[in-house]
Amino acid sequence: MHAVTLIKGDGIGPSIMDEAVKIINASGAKIQWEEAYAGMAAFEKFGTPLPDETMESIDKTRLAFKGPLTTGVGGTGFRSINVALRQKYDLYANVRPAKNWPGVKTRFDNVDIVIVRENTEGLYAGLEHYLTPKKDIAESLAVVTRAGSERIIEYAFKYAQDNHRKKVTVCHKANILKYTQGLFLDVAREIAPKYPDIQYDEKIIDAACMHMVMDPTQFDVIVCTNMFGDILSDLTAGLVGGLGLIPGANIGNDAALFEAVHGSAPDITGKNLANPTAVIMAGVMMLNHLGEHDAADKIQKAVEKVVNEGTFVTPDLNPQSKCGTVEMGDAIVKAMG
Ligand code: NAD
Repeated sequence: MHAVTLIKGDGIGPSIMDEAVKIINASGAKIQWEEAYAGMAAFEKFGTPLPDETMESIDKTRLAFKGPLTTGVGGTGFRSINVALRQKYDLYANVRPAKNWPGVKTRFDNVDIVIVRENTEGLYAGLEHYLTPKKDIAESLAVVTRAGSERIIEYAFKYAQDNHRKKVTVCHKANILKYTQGLFLDVAREIAPKYPDIQYDEKIIDAACMHMVMDPTQFDVIVCTNMFGDILSDLTAGLVGGLGLIPGANIGNDAALFEAVHGSAPDITGKNLANPTAVIMAGVMMLNHLGEHDAADKIQKAVEKVVNEGTFVTPDLNPQSKCGTVEMGDAIVKAMG
């Protein structure tokens, strides 16, 4: 049995996580769920967005399966619990694969991009403050370390090697941010020659965005600092059919957390419209991480069948569809046989 901390999250979180758990339980994977709370749901229940009980559970399981958490915009509300969890458990590698689904019509075919995002440093280090009592000057510090850059860039090349990928592209802004981005790029240039079988490329982030929307097939594995990776992964999601499809793994040396790339989607909460595919595929990544490959394959094949047939899918994939989150989950369970 694998003990997993289950955090259903906010907004659409509980509805999609219920489907994912139903499917994982039906797959034969040996998971023992420990339910815990974080985000708004935890704040309402315990008066804090990250209760001690939740940390105690992850301290023990070292593994979390998490729905999206709502974070207030701007200076109001609490700091992002997602960022806090990534930093506390040192989940330095955020892996976000985006691949075309044959049944989902998009502008480009053959998109198959994996973003490897540094997850603990950069502009999301949380070092922000106002410089004046009037709060009319604000400052944010981007922290890039040699050690942090080395481990994420090594991770990207190793990932490329282990997964038979051909190329790693570093996306950076070292022309302007000569120290923080410059350090990241220097480290990439040092590490790349250690992997002669993997093609190495560099692109300035703004040009990378233009190249990506003109011909995404030129990208394979991309490695970048925290905020660029966050933004680029929503862009890659858009290229293959939207946020409802893209999972993410947050990996550290002795803990891991699996979730969707998307957020709590307040605009569709409570309407049975949310696509559960992203969190289900995050579950597939988690099962593979645990060595539960048979269960992972079974779920992946069933999801591919349902998504590619395009009938029992949520309206983000097929605007004519009257199918909701629950019905799509049921169709995936049925497709597992
Ligand atoms: P969002 O990802 O929640 O939604 C963006 C758009 O995508 C919306 O139109 C939404 O309806 C759609 N969408 C998202 N997931 C979908 C799904 N499964 N099926 C169908 N459509 C889907 O981004 P947002 O609106 O900018 O953020 C809402 C909240 O989520 C914010 O508080 C933000 O901080 C938080 N957030 C959390 C995480 C996380 O927990 N990892 C990630 C991103 C955003």
